[in-house]
Amino acid sequence: MSALVCGCADKNDDSVKMITEATFPPYEFLRGQEIVGIDVEICRAVAQKLGKDFRSETVDFDSVIPAVISGKADLAAAGITVTEDRKKNVDFSIPYVKTGIVVIYRKDNPFKDKDQLKGRKIGVQSGTTSEMFVTDELKQEPERAKSPAEAVAALKAGRVEFVIADIDPAKNCVKGEETLAISDFITSEEYAVAIRKGQPELLKAINETIAEIKADGRLAKWVKEFTEESDKLKEK
Ligand code: GLN
Repeated sequence: MSALVCGCADKNDDSVKMITEATFPPYEFLRGQEIVGIDVEICRAVAQKLGKDFRSETVDFDSVIPAVISGKADLAAAGITVTEDRKKNVDFSIPYVKTGIVVIYRKDNPFKDKDQLKGRKIGVQSGTTSEMFVTDELKQEPERAKSPAEAVAALKAGRVEFVIADIDPAKNCVKGEETLAISDFITSEEYAVAIRKGQPELLKAINETIAEIKADGRLAKWVKEFTEESDKLKEK
C-alpha cells in the first residue's frame, strides 16, 4: 500500500488523521492510490482550521469508529450515520447531509414495499445501517459484503435478491447498469464526523468548519464535483 492510502503509522507526527472507508462514492473513493471525496475535503478543511497537516487512511467500515476510539485516528468520516448506539461510543459533529438507505433491485424483480423483503436474501455492506435494518427491522441475517459494489455484484450474479445501501453509493452502483434500479428512501439518516469522546475543542472546530463550508458553498461544490468524478470512474 502506498503512503497515501496508509497514512496513520507515525505516532509522533502532529497531523490531523482521518480514518475512512474508501468504497463509498462520492463521499470517499480511490483515484488511483489517492483517497478522495466529500468527506476527505471536510476533514482537510478541519485540519486547515487547526493549522495542521492532514493525512487519511482507509480501512473496512467496521474498523472506522474503533480507530477513533483507540486514538489511531482523530476524525472518522465515512458517510457515517448518526445513531443512538454509536453515540454511546463516540461524539458526533453537527450533521452535514440528510440522506438515507434505499433498495437496489433487478428490474426483472421489482421492489414494491418493505414487506417484500421478509425472508429474502439481502446483500449489505458489513457494519452499516443497511445491515442494522435487516437484523433489527426485518429480524433476519443479511449477506454481508465489504462494499456496496461487492453487494451489487452478488445481486447481478443472482446470489442475493436485493441489496440495501446508502442512496449515493447506490446511485453510483446502478450507473450504466441497464438491468438495475433503486427505490425511494426506506430510512431517513444524517451523516456526521465522529471523534473520540471528551474533546470539546476539536468538536467545536469541526462544527465551525461544517457551518462554514455549508454557508460558503464549498460543500455543495464538492458534492457536485465528486459525484461527477465517481460517476465517470464507474462508467469506465
Ligand atoms: N451510512 C451508513 C452507516 O453509517 C453506511 C456508511 C458506509 O458504508 N460508509 O452505517
